Amino acid sequence: MSPEPLPSFDDDPCVGRTVLTESQLAERITELGRELTEAYRGERPLLVCVLRGAYAFLTDLSRCIDLPLEIDFIAVSSYGASTRTSGVVRLVKDLDVDLTGRHVVLVEDIVDTGLTLRYLRRSLEARNPASLEVCTLLARESADLEGLGVRYVGFTIPGEFVIGYGLDVDERYRNMRHIAVYDDPAV
Ligand code: 5GP
Repeated sequence: MSPEPLPSFDDDPCVGRTVLTESQLAERITELGRELTEAYRGERPLLVCVLRGAYAFLTDLSRCIDLPLEIDFIAVSSYGASTRTSGVVRLVKDLDVDLTGRHVVLVEDIVDTGLTLRYLRRSLEARNPASLEVCTLLARESADLEGLGVRYVGFTIPGEFVIGYGLDVDERYRNMRHIAVYDDPAV
């Protein structure tokens, strides 16, 4: 039996210029996994995945970390179904695990304005973890990463809205294997 063909977005006019290929993603995520493995040697870190955008990153990153670890999921919403932030962050799903005394790594898809991260940091720090670090796959060039305390960054990218590898528009494109610019037909 021949394998099923992989999802293809080749003919979709909204899928614009490639920003990061599948192999660029894999290579950088392997490096981040090595860094985290060194940083948390002797510990059992808890990776907190910010749903839904970070699910693909969490899946690949966790498999590049050579340590016993745990994962949990938190979901927030700030975009609704549009490509512009609503400016209000809402907790949609909370964690199941108690953070007290845990070494927590918050795994994000993209830090844009930093609004989501500020909200999450406040919420998680209040639960007394032993440590809290942030690992984001993408960050805008404009984001104040130092001010936001972001320690691990996959790639910095310019201002264009991007899709793929977990990142969506109205729940589409999350299963695209690379990251591309979204060519909005309404613009
Ligand atoms: P912030 O709160 O930092 O402005 O935005 C963070 C969240 O906005 C991300 O977790 C992500 O869900 C969404 N977001 C920001 N920029 C993009 C983008 O270029 N593409 C997609 N699909 N989502 C984005």
